[in-house]
Amino acid sequence: MTDKYAVIGNPIAHSKSPLIHQMFAAQTGQDISYEAILAPLDGFAATVERLRDQGYKGCNVTVPFKFEACRIVNDVTSKVIDVFDLGENADAINTLVFRNNKIIGGNTDGVGLVRDITQNLNSNVAGKRVLLMGAGGAACGVVHPLLDQRPQEFVIANRTLENAIKFKQTIRGTAQFPVRSVSVSSYPNLSGKQFDIVINATSASLMDEMPNIPKTIFAPGALAYDMMYGRDTPFMKFAREHGAAIVSDGLGMLVEQAAESFYIWRGVRPDTASVLKKLRAELPIA
Ligand code: NDP
Repeated sequence: MTDKYAVIGNPIAHSKSPLIHQMFAAQTGQDISYEAILAPLDGFAATVERLRDQGYKGCNVTVPFKFEACRIVNDVTSKVIDVFDLGENADAINTLVFRNNKIIGGNTDGVGLVRDITQNLNSNVAGKRVLLMGAGGAACGVVHPLLDQRPQEFVIANRTLENAIKFKQTIRGTAQFPVRSVSVSSYPNLSGKQFDIVINATSASLMDEMPNIPKTIFAPGALAYDMMYGRDTPFMKFAREHGAAIVSDGLGMLVEQAAESFYIWRGVRPDTASVLKKLRAELPIA
């Protein structure tokens, strides 16, 4: 029997997740369906309950429901058994599993980002000076997997400094990188500093804007990573013009986080390189 999965968001029509999971299923011979479901802004929890009651096996969660997904997992205590190891530090959840009438939640975004950086882009986070820009859901989902990689320095910068400070207070840190070693900064205060990896986890690119970072921010050989995908962004152009050696959008992260969700649901690891290549051919960014 075909096992049903979905991605829930609002808006959702633009989502590439159904295409990616269908490619994974075809490649691995898994009998699954995967659809995009638009949930009303005030109807996320009801949508999740409906899917679970209809026998879906799990779902992905996207904007703007990732924080609410975490609350569902934690609130409905009788239905919760645990959170995946990879998500135990995440307050934003992108993957749910429905099992024995229980809802299990975790976050695969951070694993996806780290895998894209280390495997697809052949870079290392270990020992690097890392700047994470943004303090929203995307930043929240990736912070612990990045800290797990043992960077040399980790700075979170945000347009509204207060939000970065609040975000830091939610971070538990890792054995490798305690939270006291995480710094918080405004963009202007980054003046004079250089980073080996600069990650844009803000939603500025959606509006064709970018954070107000200094032109000298990129260390020699730096990687500039925009989580946005599907178009060249002002941050990516800025990075090319100001010395970044590698400039990437977030398509690889999207595919890698999907692969991790697929693995959690199906116990099978799809080949991501071929899927990424196919998607890349359809999108304008090289
Ligand atoms: P949020 O709305 O939660 O994040 C908003 C963040 O962006 C805040 O830190 C906000 O700063 C900052 N911001 C918004 N506009 C600007 C601006 N003009 N200049 C500077 N900072 C700005 O969004 P998400 O965190 O959910 O998503 C962020 C991005 O990551 C999106 O583009 C999303 O598509 C992408 N993403 C990609 C994934 C992938 O797989 N590739 C996975 C997840 C997300 P302030 O606090 O000051 O308001």
